[in-house]
Amino acid sequence: MRKDLAAPLRPAWAEIDLGAIRHNARVLASHVAPAELCAVVKAWAYGHGPVRTARAALEGGATWLGVALVEEGRQLRAAHISAPILLLSEAVPPAMSEVVRSGLTPTVYTQQGVDALAAAVVTHDLDEPFPVHVKVDTGMHRVGATPDDAVKLAADIAGRPGLELQGLWTHFAVADEPASTYTERQLERFHEVVDRLGQLGVRPPLLHAANSAAALANPDWALSMVRCGIALYGLAPSKELVDQAPCPALRPAMSLRALVSHVKEVERGERLSYGLRYELAQRSVVATVPLGYADGVTRSLSARGGEVLIGGHRLPISGTITMDQLLVDCGPDADVAVGDVVVLLGRQGGEEITAWELADRTGTIAYEVVCGVSARVPRVYR
Ligand SMILES: *Cc1c(COP(=O)(O)O)cnc(C)c1O
Repeated sequence: MRKDLAAPLRPAWAEIDLGAIRHNARVLASHVAPAELCAVVKAWAYGHGPVRTARAALEGGATWLGVALVEEGRQLRAAHISAPILLLSEAVPPAMSEVVRSGLTPTVYTQQGVDALAAAVVTHDLDEPFPVHVKVDTGMHRVGATPDDAVKLAADIAGRPGLELQGLWTHFAVADEPASTYTERQLERFHEVVDRLGQLGVRPPLLHAANSAAALANPDWALSMVRCGIALYGLAPSKELVDQAPCPALRPAMSLRALVSHVKEVERGERLSYGLRYELAQRSVVATVPLGYADGVTRSLSARGGEVLIGGHRLPISGTITMDQLLVDCGPDADVAVGDVVVLLGRQGGEEITAWELADRTGTIAYEVVCGVSARVPRVYR
């Protein structure tokens, strides 16, 4: 076994480059300045690990963090992270007390949500009004209040002494499709709500709408703050945007690696793995890699041209990917040994397997590739 073996028990690991996250945060923050950067660290920071990622993003210039779940926010607070943490969906009424206790910044879009939050705030006997953001649905139709309801809810919040209407926001459906005019239509609807509130004398200090795609595409859409997830991890929000500035300036933060666990020569005509679906055209060196679909290496990859890097060369994933292991046909004269580093995602020598390459092969998006690296894979930070 090599000395650079990163995971002492299991020779398979996801390497997280915290320098890349700091760098990406810096690139994004300066791209949208003077707007603030909210680093979206939901879903275990898209597989990168929330606490380390959040700290790196804050060091790089993010001033806010965004999470999907109360539990995710609470985990950051337990790690003594004090930056404001925005909940991107409305918490269920029984969770509002925990929202207040953990000092998370709630998003609301129903009357029930506002009432539950107000009731939770009362029981906590706070010195200051508790900040809250209202989300407007301007056309994605996932969550959010209709424009009419948003005006009512925001005015209601502004009139309650225990609450402070700190923000108003929306979310885009197709910001990753540069040719679409729908994003501008959504922004118009958002500004109509802002204007109607202004006529009532209600002016939330923070207005935000942009995700990574919108923030990258048009800094004019940044308003007071952008909420970036995928770009923070160094990945373009869509394949169309991979080569578009400033995406090439971003650095992918995650790579997925393992050490070859077993090597043997297998005769011509023999077939590999479950189902015997891959036949060797010649006598060949076959390497076993200790990663499988339970680690997030999608099973369909083997039938769709999936490759790995060993010794800086692209080699085919051969035969069915199993739960814990996969096989690689290294060819007849391969110089491959137990302990050699295998790259499933990331760079080796002059070659690179990107998250978008993997996504393309398996009919998904880069988001799902990195989120899919399972909790069983140790994360190694550098
Ligand atoms: C996940 C999420 C984001 C981040 O989206 P990216 O495309 O990863 O930048 C922003 N806003 C909301 C509401 C989200 O749910």
